[in-house]
Amino acid sequence: MKTAIYPGTFDPITLGHVDVVQRGLKLFDKIIIAVADSPKKSPMFNVQMRLAMVNQTFDGESRIEALSFDGLLVNLAQTHQAIAILRGLRAASDFEYEFQLAAMNRKLDSDIESVFVMAREEYTFVSSSFIREISSMGGDVDALVPEAVRQHLPQHKG
Ligand code: ADP
Repeated sequence: MKTAIYPGTFDPITLGHVDVVQRGLKLFDKIIIAVADSPKKSPMFNVQMRLAMVNQTFDGESRIEALSFDGLLVNLAQTHQAIAILRGLRAASDFEYEFQLAAMNRKLDSDIESVFVMAREEYTFVSSSFIREISSMGGDVDALVPEAVRQHLPQHKG
């Protein structure tokens, strides 16, 4: 049983994140989506809400589990016997940060591999921060987020 942890802020979860999870399911038996509390990022949605939207998005998917966390990622991975940390790469601009994060996690636990996947091309420009920004200005981002998120965005009219 190969388990990977997919950590992130998911503020909110986007179709880019969903695509990363679906690719992860081709490589691993189980994906644990770990929603980081990230208080320093002053998230738009609190961690319970972000977790609820993730759970709703993957409702009924037996190979996906979601939880929230605020400690060290490698400790969480060890607790769940995860063999890998799953992350997504969009553009070269993601690389520097992801490289540092992976190197740091390897220092903390050399047994856990960081694995990177690329989402579909049409999602390469999708980020939670753009979703927050565009929707707060009244822009329509429905095509870029799961149904569970649409109803909670500021621009939503229904
Ligand atoms: P964090 O605060 O840890 O960066 P995010 O929720 O912003 O959390 O992102 C979690 C992971 O998902 C990161 O590895 C990020 O690069 C990846 N990711 C986010 N959006 C996309 C996307 N559209 N395509 C590919 N990877 C993505």
